[in-house]
Amino acid sequence: NLEIIFVGRSNVGKSSLLKELFGAKVRVGKRPGVTLRPTHARISDFLITDMPGFGFMSGVKDRKQDIVKDKTVHYIEDNAERIKIGVLVVDGPSFPEIVDRWDSRDQIPIDVEMFDFLREIGIDTIVAANKMDKVKADEYNDLLDEVAVRLGLEPPWQNWKHIIAPISAKKGDLKALKGLLRDRLHEMKRDDLF
Ligand code: GDP
Repeated sequence: NLEIIFVGRSNVGKSSLLKELFGAKVRVGKRPGVTLRPTHARISDFLITDMPGFGFMSGVKDRKQDIVKDKTVHYIEDNAERIKIGVLVVDGPSFPEIVDRWDSRDQIPIDVEMFDFLREIGIDTIVAANKMDKVKADEYNDLLDEVAVRLGLEPPWQNWKHIIAPISAKKGDLKALKGLLRDRLHEMKRDDLF
């Protein structure tokens, strides 16, 4: 049993990404604040899991966001053995600013916390920096350096191309992420997912 989980703050484009990657095979729960449970799809031998979006949700109380986080952490701990890959989806262009805002309140941003947690428990983690279509060509590498720094990865970001995948779900540009997923699956001798 092999599982790939997709985690991310609400509104980062996780549903859009899953739709692009797996089409109608993955039912995407588009009810922020309502979907507290992970949604699953089985594709060949893989379990593809869409974790509920965490972080800010309009109209949702802080307490509920803590519940989402706790449930996510528990789910990952309980299933760590079969979770082979974790894809953390972030909103690339706004990620540095969001992290800094939390830092200024002496809080650990939930995305960074999740990144560290996934790696600590030994899950091979990819960060999909989505919405890169919003970034101008001449600012692209600088932004990705900023993303790397916020994740605790020393720039240049190109040194972390096995972890950071700049993508645009909206434009259907998922090359970087598909490449990384294929590499991982190939190592597992599983070339049947994409
Ligand atoms: P989720 O809450 O993480 O599942 O996010 P959604 O997939 O519902 O997307 C949230 C918003 O971001 C929607 O308005 C999408 O159209 C937009 N969005 C998603 N992916 C991209 C992207 O690659 N580029 C841009 N510019 N917008 C995106």
